[in-house]
Amino acid sequence: MSETIFSKIIDREIPADIIYEDDLCLAFRDINAQAPVHFLVIPKKPIAKLSDADEGDQALLGHLLLVANKTAAQEGLEDFRLNVNNGAGASQTVFHLHVHVLGGRPFSWPPG
Ligand code: AMP
Repeated sequence: MSETIFSKIIDREIPADIIYEDDLCLAFRDINAQAPVHFLVIPKKPIAKLSDADEGDQALLGHLLLVANKTAAQEGLEDFRLNVNNGAGASQTVFHLHVHVLGGRPFSWPPG
């Protein structure tokens, strides 16, 4: 996978407001927040998009959700929304898998 802005954040080549890190993943605030709390949880493993993950990534994908959960609680969120954009047609712009975590305001359904 080619280098992305998120791999540069992992490598500390560009700054980010990192709120959680472990051996497998990183969570940092979205630079263009769409809610009072908006952060991204990304694997350190370079997976371009969710549909590129396979059975071998099962534990990693579960870990991302648990970190989203834990970090949302750390941010004081009780209700929150997770979003994964998969592919350009679904508004993915950075091709390094990421889970959006948004909270701090009401969310309607269906999403836009
Ligand atoms: P997506 O459209 O799902 O690919 O989301 C990519 C997200 O990355 C967008 O919400 C951007 O605002 C966010 N983003 C892009 N560059 C940065 C950055 N340097 N630091 C934090 N968030 C970023």
